Amino acid sequence: MLGAAMDFTYPPETELVRAAARAWLDENLDDDLRALRLLGDGSELAQLERLRGWNRKLADAGWAAVAWPGEYGGRDAGPLEALVVSEEMSRANAPGPLNPIGLANIAPAIMAYGTPEQKLRFLRPMLRGDHIWSQAFSEPDAGSDLADLRTRAERDGDAFVVNGAKIWNTLGHIADYCELLVRTDLDAPKHKGITCLLVDLRLPGIEIRPLVNIVGESDFTQIFFDDVRVPASAQLGPVNEGWRVAMATLAHERGGVAHLHPIVRRRVDELWALARSTPLGSRTAADDPLVRQSLATVTAEAELLRLVSFRALSAAVKGRPPGPESSIAKLHWTSVVQHAAEIAAEIAGSASVTGDVARGRVSARSSSIAGGTTQVNKNVIATRILGLPRSH
Ligand SMILES: Cc1cc2nc3c(=O)[nH]c(=O)nc-3n(C[C@H](O)[C@H](O)[C@H](O)COP(=O)(O)OP(=O)(O)OC[C@H]3O[C@@H](n4cnc5c(N)ncnc54)[C@H](O)[C@@H]3O)c2cc1C
Repeated sequence: MLGAAMDFTYPPETELVRAAARAWLDENLDDDLRALRLLGDGSELAQLERLRGWNRKLADAGWAAVAWPGEYGGRDAGPLEALVVSEEMSRANAPGPLNPIGLANIAPAIMAYGTPEQKLRFLRPMLRGDHIWSQAFSEPDAGSDLADLRTRAERDGDAFVVNGAKIWNTLGHIADYCELLVRTDLDAPKHKGITCLLVDLRLPGIEIRPLVNIVGESDFTQIFFDDVRVPASAQLGPVNEGWRVAMATLAHERGGVAHLHPIVRRRVDELWALARSTPLGSRTAADDPLVRQSLATVTAEAELLRLVSFRALSAAVKGRPPGPESSIAKLHWTSVVQHAAEIAAEIAGSASVTGDVARGRVSARSSSIAGGTTQVNKNVIATRILGLPRSH
């Protein structure tokens, strides 16, 4: 793999997967589908059923989650094959499956810890977008220090009775299920008394409130639990061992950063196109030396992200779980998406104060928080890569 990454070629069998994905997308994707995106601006419900139709088509053709085992609807593909399929999806500007969090983070935890009944019940509908999943981990007072979570569950007969509140649940407004972390032992050390539940969000006592973000969109929520009776069969993994399940979920979230560089590359190409089509004096923004310098810098940064991502991917190819190199990829990804958003504003000039460019610029700020903050990732790099002492 390292050799493949260094000379920028993929093994022939990986290229066969790429060719098959490209042919299928050429055949099945049209401009109407390309325009579909869940924006969280109120238009998402209208788009939802069309996206679901596209998701089912992807899943039924085996392209929704190629790295999943064949028995659950994937192709048993390795990390490189999964990457080239991501590259082709991005090249074609295809909307992804409805369940990015479910497919990438929650499903691997269900595969590792779920009972046969749970796997049968949840994985296929998740793959096809029939059920949308959200991750209900963070709480108002437990984010970076997730193990501080307070949402409680007490066993009562054949159910857990859940009380508490979760926050920042991406896709919560359209989700059918969530992966929920609850405290089941108040006396145990904080990492030891947590249990993971797979919760049907239609249960009585659950209230989902949308959160409006800084650009007025609402793609995450708060979820309140008031004496919610969750069947004991919803328990994922052993009771009080939910921290291990959470770590498995988050390891996949971190590892997923290695798949983001094709999207960034596409964004950089769009920036070049924007510069070429934006008039500046008698020429275009792309002729301006300062704009060209910015574009050259962000192009190099996107390429660096690809190389950093290959490093993380190399570990996956060797069968190692995502390690601290994912933190480098996350930090660099954050920096390049935020820089790209600033350059879009630089190109658009006064037109950047409103509309999509302004929205993109402000939205990009959240990338330094979502999926682990910049400061926390720097701590990981400091202690696990540089060997610096922990602060007290
Ligand atoms: C767009 C977006 C989507 C999200 N989606 C989800 C989701 O689907 N499900 C979910 O459960 N959560 C989700 N989150 C929540 C996210 O995981 C948390 O916001 C994140 O972990 C930070 O937690 P916090 O907001 O509580 O901030 P805090 O942990 O309170 O951090 C506040 C500040 O202190 C810094 N800090 C904290 N600890 C340290 C430390 N040890 N050393 C140095 N600095 C530190 C942080 O970097 C930050 O700047 C999402 C967040 C965003 C922005």
